[in-house]
Amino acid sequence: MSLGDQWRQVRPPVLGVHLDSAACSRQSLETIRAVAQHAEHEAQIGGYVAQEAATPVLDAGRAAVRQLTGMPEAQVQFTTGAADALRTLLQGWPADAGRTIACLPGEFGPNLMLMHHFGFTPVWLPVDGDGRADLEGIEVFLRREKIDLVHVTALGSHRGTVQPAAEMVAMARAAGIPVVVDSAQALGHIDCTHGADAMYAPSRKWLAGPRGVGVLAINPSLAHLIPQWAGHVEAHVAGWVGLSVAVGRHLAAGPEQVQGALAERGRSARKILGELKDWRVVEAVDEPSAITTIEPVGDIDVVAVRAGLIEEHAIVTTAAETMRAPFVMTKPVLRISPHVDGTDEELELLAKALAPLRRA
Ligand SMILES: *Cc1c(COP(=O)(O)O)cnc(C)c1O
Repeated sequence: MSLGDQWRQVRPPVLGVHLDSAACSRQSLETIRAVAQHAEHEAQIGGYVAQEAATPVLDAGRAAVRQLTGMPEAQVQFTTGAADALRTLLQGWPADAGRTIACLPGEFGPNLMLMHHFGFTPVWLPVDGDGRADLEGIEVFLRREKIDLVHVTALGSHRGTVQPAAEMVAMARAAGIPVVVDSAQALGHIDCTHGADAMYAPSRKWLAGPRGVGVLAINPSLAHLIPQWAGHVEAHVAGWVGLSVAVGRHLAAGPEQVQGALAERGRSARKILGELKDWRVVEAVDEPSAITTIEPVGDIDVVAVRAGLIEEHAIVTTAAETMRAPFVMTKPVLRISPHVDGTDEELELLAKALAPLRRA
């Protein structure tokens, strides 16, 4: 059985067409039941006792994250999501340390707002015309400028361009600068063995875990940023259990197989949607990710299109507005992000639903 068929078989049947894994993937029945079972256990033996009883599952989840990220030494902490992890890291930055943070110009808007909130000044790493890291330029830049922290978003929310994150991390380390990777769109999607000092991701995107939880993996080099009490605040422990199950299943499915299947889905989407007259596919056809974005050529309201696709066709996509990457996006794009169970037929349905807009 193909990976896509296996993936579909262990999930509730989809109603309509789901092309929105970059926002929130469909959870497996096993994950959904693990969350419900933990909640039931809490009611039976008490929430804190149930949490203790779940220790082996949670430890297995943390171990799976270490394995998936190639960070055997990392302390893995559950969070409420990616923004929560970044907040924890920036909040813990020593008061007397410098706060110049180097990012790619396509940095995620909400991350930039957090950086500003904690007094960091972003400076832009050099990129090529597609917004991809210019490695030679970056090597020179990191040697020349005084940078206190490098923040790499390995794969953006606004575009399916895969950044050479491992190479960027190696350059930051060679320059003696701590480096953090936002793997929100990367974990469970592309290779995430970046070798960074810390990485974080939510559960609900490509790992297909529950909403409202995530992980922060932090190596001993930056562990001092994490306050002692972290991990002892009130949390959705049932969600941690679900995330642990989901990441375990991802490892069992084979991260490389999933990566290959997702890249193949992205290629199909770009080929099929590349036929549309009133939209331009932003990524190169062979970009190895399952995120495709299309930009209207003329005057099309992307937010209205996204709503119309749901209402009239039950096709779920994302309207990605410019705040997602305020320094590179000039207009909103429609984001299409199938998981491994996606089919060409579904993409054809989307193309057909978009085509009549030509006459509008
Ligand atoms: C979704 C996303 C985030 C934010 O994740 P939350 O869990 O909603 O905080 C951060 N960075 C990128 C690149 C994202 O796509």
